[in-house]
Amino acid sequence: MNPTHEVFNQPAPLSDYNLLATNRPLRDALKFNAPALDTEELGRLGATLGSSAMQTHARLANVHGPVLHSHDRFGRRVDQVEFHPSYHELMKLATGAGLHGTPWSDEEPSPHVRRAAGFMLFTELEPSILCPISMSYAATPALRGNTAIYADWGPKLASRAYDPELKPWQAKAGLTMGMGMTEKQGGSDVRANTTRAEPSGRDGWGERYAITGHKWFFSAPMCDAFLVLAQTKSGLSCFFLPRVLPEGGLNAIRIQRLKDKLGNKANASSEVEFEAAQAWLVGEEGRGIPQILEMGTMTRLDCALGTSGLMRQALALALNHTSQRKAFGKLLVEQPLMRNVLADLALESEAATALAMRLARAFDRPGEAHEAAMARLLTPVAKFWICKRGSHFAQEAMECLGGNGYVEEGGEGIMARVYREMPLNSIWEGAGNIMALDLLRALRKADAVAALAQELSAARGAHPALDKLAAALPTRIEEMASEVEARRLAQDVALAVQAVLLLQTAPAAVFGAFCDSRLAGNWGQSFGTLGAGTDFDAIIARAMPR
Ligand SMILES: Cc1cc2nc3c(=O)[nH]c(=O)nc-3n(C[C@H](O)[C@H](O)[C@H](O)COP(=O)(O)OP(=O)(O)OC[C@H]3O[C@@H](n4cnc5c(N)ncnc54)[C@H](O)[C@@H]3O)c2cc1C
Repeated sequence: MNPTHEVFNQPAPLSDYNLLATNRPLRDALKFNAPALDTEELGRLGATLGSSAMQTHARLANVHGPVLHSHDRFGRRVDQVEFHPSYHELMKLATGAGLHGTPWSDEEPSPHVRRAAGFMLFTELEPSILCPISMSYAATPALRGNTAIYADWGPKLASRAYDPELKPWQAKAGLTMGMGMTEKQGGSDVRANTTRAEPSGRDGWGERYAITGHKWFFSAPMCDAFLVLAQTKSGLSCFFLPRVLPEGGLNAIRIQRLKDKLGNKANASSEVEFEAAQAWLVGEEGRGIPQILEMGTMTRLDCALGTSGLMRQALALALNHTSQRKAFGKLLVEQPLMRNVLADLALESEAATALAMRLARAFDRPGEAHEAAMARLLTPVAKFWICKRGSHFAQEAMECLGGNGYVEEGGEGIMARVYREMPLNSIWEGAGNIMALDLLRALRKADAVAALAQELSAARGAHPALDKLAAALPTRIEEMASEVEARRLAQDVALAVQAVLLLQTAPAAVFGAFCDSRLAGNWGQSFGTLGAGTDFDAIIARAMPR
């Protein structure tokens, strides 16, 4: 009781719940994409991630952001980033759960799907620390381009130990990696990179180079090493750049400053300069872009997974709030128009989860031609469409909480954090247009259109609007006259694949409402515009986090 009034009609925060046990769409996606997977460990992770103790760490890591120490008090360069202890607790949990390099050496079935689900769940708690976790996951396929370095670093990138100390790799229990492509004059078009690499000898890791230049965005600069692009006489090449040299001593990576960002506050993103920093060639000289894009592909998967996790968290917060808050004599969740908003968000969230998890499955089976084709096609499609929907989704979910949604403080302040994070997944690792254009490149490959048709054939006859779209896509792809239509194509491929997946993993109410709204046009231009005949009860009950 406050001295002046009683506080009532304010919801209890969504805390101390199991993120996996209460996420039916994710559990069904797991069953579909990895039927033999033992989900017990994921279940334990889900409980930890939903605990109030971890929520406090997430809040503290964001409130007390990273601090750069470029020099010590005696004027010597140290280039260190200091983090709040809660940041390290989150990193320890993520590496302990094997969300970084572990799948690459995991003997269990479906390691990438398992890790994808864990990554999605972790995003609900705190997305920004997942930047170095994601890059450490993504580095392996590209790093294999230098077998000697991979032999040394691979096992420690997969190790579940978190070791934040700055010391030579040999002395560390676990390692992390980042990437440096973007320069001031070009991020999407990295061919504009001016950073140069001069040969400086040869050793057990192969050709050694001295790198001079800069990177304008260089996230998680306290990682143990980075894959970076630099120009040699043969063109843009990919290099392995450790923070500490194998012979000891700091490499010449000078952190100029940390970026002051809209969101993603717990993660340090920096600007750096390299002063003849020592690096080793990875892959073929002059073939740096395809080499580093093997890393980019995996981080793009994580953008789709991460945004799906953020959507799920925003939806869970909206459902938690509206099922406890009354207005005009009823719980908000009982108000017909609010039910339309919540059900529409639930459809979007489940469709995102289904698509992102299906994409993860493709990476579990690289030897199968169809799965390889799906990895190539669905990476840009999922990254484009899911991330594009994220900001709009977060705004609508925030509005379900009314004014409380816009406030940073306390438990429900998570919503503001989700909202600020959303645009980032759409921008980094290839912004929207770059993804749509990449889809056109992927479709030029022989058999790409046939692979897409095969994927869509699983739902033939299930809904007339889906049949119509699936039948039209091959001709549209073939006859597409200009890249100006690339976004619309990426959107329609995403919607078609999402519908097909929902038929296979979700109840009929979800599949039917998704097709009616997204494909058959019984929908408006904002969330909350589903047709009156929608089975709102079934859709909302399935999405409830409690
Ligand atoms: C918080 C944060 C952290 C980051 N961390 C890293 C990191 O660790 N390492 C790293 O290398 N980079 C990092 N980046 C950089 C990020 O990947 C780039 O910002 C992104 O790739 C876009 O590049 P750009 O900023 O140079 O924009 P530009 O390349 O100038 O693009 C601007 C816009 O133009 C569009 N565009 C570009 N080309 C075309 C075209 N041909 N047709 C149509 N549209 C086009 C793009 O889609 C985009 O919308 C980070 C960015 C952020 C915001």
